[in-house]
Amino acid sequence: MPKHCTKCQIEKPATREFYYAGKKWSDGFHPHCKTCQIAYAVAYKRRHPEKARANRKAWRQRNPENGRSQQRRRRATVEGALHNRMATRINAALRKKGRGWELLVGYTVDDLKAHLERQFTGGMGWHNRSEWHVDHIVPVSHFKFSSFDDPDFKACWALSNLRPLWSKQNCSKGGRRELLL
Ligand SMILES: [Zn+2]
Repeated sequence: MPKHCTKCQIEKPATREFYYAGKKWSDGFHPHCKTCQIAYAVAYKRRHPEKARANRKAWRQRNPENGRSQQRRRRATVEGALHNRMATRINAALRKKGRGWELLVGYTVDDLKAHLERQFTGGMGWHNRSEWHVDHIVPVSHFKFSSFDDPDFKACWALSNLRPLWSKQNCSKGGRRELLL
């Protein structure tokens, strides 16, 4: 079923691919599309880095059940590592800087983390992340793109094209695959 984003006014399918889900919305989806929400979040973080940090801290204090501090520190490290590596890889792919990678690819570091976790197999985890890599299922070399507006760029970096893979497996494919992590 199509749904109008009340921010950009673009009609997009009412699915988790295009909208964040939430019980408080009558149709189960946020009135703003993911692209608009990510754009807003990235802009907000850039404009108000201190406020964004304070908001996150306040949220953690209101939700202490969401992890003991050690767990949270580890998660922060994982997210920080993912964030940096994605930014580096995507900037290198485009030879371009200055736009947040979350905005370019249309998902956040949390989306990426959850996506990878869903595909962990055989003991994979954040504790052994040096032993596996983020693999492009269809290799980067298969795509032709010169800008982030290119549909091939979106396809290359789509969550559905990314999966965690044990390093040995990845390397045995002849090094054609791009490594992220
Ligand atoms: Zn929108």
